[in-house]
Amino acid sequence: MRAWEVSRPGPIDDGPLRLVDRPLPEPGPGEVRVDVRACGVCRTDLHIAEGDLEVHRPQVVPGHEVVGTVSARGPGADRFQLGERVGIAWLASTCGVCRFCRRGEENLCLHATFTGWDRDGGYAEATIVDERFAYRLPDELSDEQAAPLLCAGIIGYRALERASLRPGGRLGLYGFGASAHITGQIARAQGAELYVATRSIDAQRLARDLGAVWVGGAADMPPVPLDAAILFAPVGDLVLPAMAALDRGGVLAVAGIHLTDIPPLVYDAHLFQERELRSVTANTRRDGEELLALAPRLGVHATVQPYPFDRAAEALADLAHDRVTGAAVLHVS
Ligand SMILES: [Zn+2]
Ligand SMILES: [Zn+2]
Repeated sequence: MRAWEVSRPGPIDDGPLRLVDRPLPEPGPGEVRVDVRACGVCRTDLHIAEGDLEVHRPQVVPGHEVVGTVSARGPGADRFQLGERVGIAWLASTCGVCRFCRRGEENLCLHATFTGWDRDGGYAEATIVDERFAYRLPDELSDEQAAPLLCAGIIGYRALERASLRPGGRLGLYGFGASAHITGQIARAQGAELYVATRSIDAQRLARDLGAVWVGGAADMPPVPLDAAILFAPVGDLVLPAMAALDRGGVLAVAGIHLTDIPPLVYDAHLFQERELRSVTANTRRDGEELLALAPRLGVHATVQPYPFDRAAEALADLAHDRVTGAAVLHVS
C-alpha cells in the first residue's frame, strides 16, 4: 500500500514527509484493518512533521481523523462487520487500570497511545485500529464531513466543555481553523454568542458567515467582556489578550496539544476576579461518541478544502501557511 511517513521531522517547507510503499498491515488480536477513504489534516500532524512534538515512533504515518471501512479482523475482533464504515481518532489506546482510567478520565491516562504519533495513522491506504477505540459513524455524515469531526470536532467539543460557558453566554474563539469553525457552530446552535479573533482574512469571512457577532484580528479586544474563550491558535502570546478579554469568573481553555511559551501574566490584568486558565488534553471515548451524535443533530457542517491523497504534503504546507479555510481533508480512495 502507499503511505506517507515522517521521514525526518523538520520545517514543512524542507519536506519532512515522504510517500512510500509499505506492506499491507495485518490486524493483531482485538484489532481491525481499515481501508482508508478519507483522512482529515490536523495541526497536530504538522507539529509531528515539524518536530514540535517528540518522535514517538520513527517513520510514523500521521493522520488521526480517519474514515474508512473494515477490511480485515484480527483474532477476537467482532465489534464491527467486514465492510462496515468506522472512524479512527487521536486516542488509540489507554491502559484501563491507572488512577485516571479508573475514574473515567482516560484522556489523562498515564500510558495512552495516539494515532499518527505512537501508531501509524490515516495518511495511508490502510491502517490498523484497536476496535475498542474506533467509532461508529452516523449514516448522514459523508466521509468528507465525518473526517474533521474526529479530531477538530471532538477536541473542540471537549474544549467547549472545559470552558464552562454559561447558557446563552459570550464565547471568544482565538484562531478560527478546522476545530474552531466546528466548535463555534456547536456553541451557536446551543445559544452562545460568538466573538472571533483571527489573523486570516478568509477565516474572518467564514466566521461572519457562520454568525459571529464580532470578528477581529488575532489579538484584538472584543467590544464586551467574554464569559468564556477557547484558544485554538498555538500561540502563547495570545493567552494575554484572551485572558484580558474575559469577564469576571470567565474561563480560557487552551485547546491545542502544543503552545509556544506564554509571556508573564499580570495578576490584575489577566487573572484576578476569578478568571481561570485551563488546558485541554486529548479526549475520552465518551467525548467522541457524544460529539458524533450531537454534530449531525445540530446541523454542523464543516467547510472542507479537499486534497487528493498524493498531495498530503502540500495540504500540510498549506495549513502551515494559513492557506486552508475550514478543514483540509485527504481523499484517499
Ligand atoms: Zn490509564
Ligand atoms: Zn488532531
